[in-house]
Amino acid sequence: MRSTFKAILISRDADKKQSVGVTELSEDDLMEGDVTVAVEATTVNYKDGLAITGKAPVVRHWPMVPGIDFAGTVSASSHPGWKEGDKVVLNGWGSGETHWGAYAGKARVKGDWLVPLPEGMSALQAMAIGTAGYTAMLCVMALERYGIRPGDGPVVVTGAAGGVGTVAISVLSKLGHEVIASTGRPEESSFLKDLGASDIIDRAEFSEPGRPLGKERFAAGIDVAGSHTLANVLAQTCYGGAVAACGLAQGMDLPATVAPFILRGVALLGVDSVMAPKARRLEAWQRLASDLDMNKLEALSQTIGFDGIVDTARAIVDGKVRGRVAVDMTA
Ligand code: NDP
Repeated sequence: MRSTFKAILISRDADKKQSVGVTELSEDDLMEGDVTVAVEATTVNYKDGLAITGKAPVVRHWPMVPGIDFAGTVSASSHPGWKEGDKVVLNGWGSGETHWGAYAGKARVKGDWLVPLPEGMSALQAMAIGTAGYTAMLCVMALERYGIRPGDGPVVVTGAAGGVGTVAISVLSKLGHEVIASTGRPEESSFLKDLGASDIIDRAEFSEPGRPLGKERFAAGIDVAGSHTLANVLAQTCYGGAVAACGLAQGMDLPATVAPFILRGVALLGVDSVMAPKARRLEAWQRLASDLDMNKLEALSQTIGFDGIVDTARAIVDGKVRGRVAVDMTA
């Protein structure tokens, strides 16, 4: 008998109206690829929220199984780098956008997209980190490559109570940085301090148009918001500092001036996780295994089952999810 598995499918009708449903698929339905993976864990990222609600054109192939990342076990492979039984992680590469993704019992992908699950990390822990956490680590690595070191001064993290923010705070504080958390949720202050933030600021300080240059407050920053938030963070970064920008939670625009760049030598470092080269992915996952306190990961994440994915996707675009959400696909 043909074995089937549950999947979430986003479809659209002749009028391009999007709908989301649960369906049964078999391996024969999956897209092309040289490795088939039994998905054991996945997550709900901000981008998954945009895909499922249709709030941004994330999905570019119809119908689509969403889900931009997963961890699981190889069940079949014709790729020389992977064999049945290998534990793997996938982030991005168009998963859930152009290629059927994580919200299914199985996924078939290109073996070149996969990295090994770090030694000692479970599939569920890897997905509690997820693409948000892996991107937070890419941001930390970008600041380090630029030369930012613990002791240089405070590092501001925007969107502090979200997925990228909570992992960034945890990693930066473990590395010995002084971390300032910018949040619109003051009720999460003690949670953010427990993760390692030494100070909390109200994100409203950054959300409106500001001056081209402000008081020099931050040695560096990690920004998930874009728009005025990023412009104001740049304007308040100290001489020679750097800001790693990875997100657009406030907006895609950047209403800034060149003043921080040409008068203070501030650097704006762009961070992309989707097409990041393999060597950088391997480094990021190894660094997450060593530089993220697993007790903090437990504190900043919650686990849901397959049936909770769609509601969580809606909540994340409304800014109502704290930290990270991992999905146990084996439950
Ligand atoms: P979350 O939804 O978990 O967190 C986003 C946080 O941003 C919210 O929790 C909130 O934090 C803050 N925020 C929301 N709205 C606004 C606003 N209008 N102004 C300022 N801050 C706001 O998402 P993630 O952490 O998973 O992702 C954050 C961003 O990074 C997203 O834009 C996502 O698309 C992007 N991203 C980019 C990647 C890349 O490859 N470049 C990879 C992964 C994510 P608080 O409540 O604390 O204020």
